[in-house]
Amino acid sequence: MGKGTASFGKHGRSKSHIVCRRCGRRAFNVAKGYCAACGFGRSRRIRRYKWQRKKVNRIRIV
Ligand SMILES: [Zn+2]
Repeated sequence: MGKGTASFGKHGRSKSHIVCRRCGRRAFNVAKGYCAACGFGRSRRIRRYKWQRKKVNRIRIV
């Protein structure tokens, strides 16, 4: 079993992302220590882009 489809069956066991305490999304990577959605823990500025238009927690971000 390498890094292909077979190994992706093991991905659901441990949680890689927890609820971020800055943006409220479940995007805070525990192992890396930063949020994939807002960049919390990586940069002081909130990570947001113009193409990032999506309703998150019933609020439209950007
Ligand atoms: Zn965040």
